[in-house]
Amino acid sequence: MNTPDSVPAPAAPADCLFCKIASGAIPSAKVFEDDQCLVFMDIGPLTHGHALVIPKQHVRAITEAPLDLASHLLDIAQRVARAQVAALGAKGVNIVTNDGELAGQTVPHLHFHVIPQYPDDQHVWNWEPHPYADPVHAPVLAAALAGAMP
Ligand code: 5GP
Ligand code: ZN
Repeated sequence: MNTPDSVPAPAAPADCLFCKIASGAIPSAKVFEDDQCLVFMDIGPLTHGHALVIPKQHVRAITEAPLDLASHLLDIAQRVARAQVAALGAKGVNIVTNDGELAGQTVPHLHFHVIPQYPDDQHVWNWEPHPYADPVHAPVLAAALAGAMP
């Protein structure tokens, strides 16, 4: 009989694109790999050198990742960013992860985008800040978040 401790983790979806890339079933332009992660070039880059850092094990998104795995992926993303500066002449780098469809996640397997930025590229972020309508909103939201921190 299964006890909670013996219930296996849910299997990765059989049709997960990034699981197939991690296993080599689908080819990718590989940058780096170790026992936990793979780095490869994004097929639809926002800029030249846009890379993706993924765990080899299936994890849906950052909010579901064990801390040691998330930390390792970020360590690798930092090294990729430094390589983009050193090898490609990037003058800035965005490290981004989207969690959930509403946030723009199209592949439901955790990935960090590492996106180099150059002074002469045409890429712009569609990032339009809007101040809170009432100044009380920020501290009210801060208190709600503070009370919900896991
Ligand atoms: P998301 O929208 O989930 O944050 O990012 C998914 C990323 O995966 C996109 O930037 C997209 O270009 C990339 N991508 C989707 N399919 C493939 C593929 O088959 N190979 C590679 N290398 N990248 C892919
Ligand atoms: Zn997967």
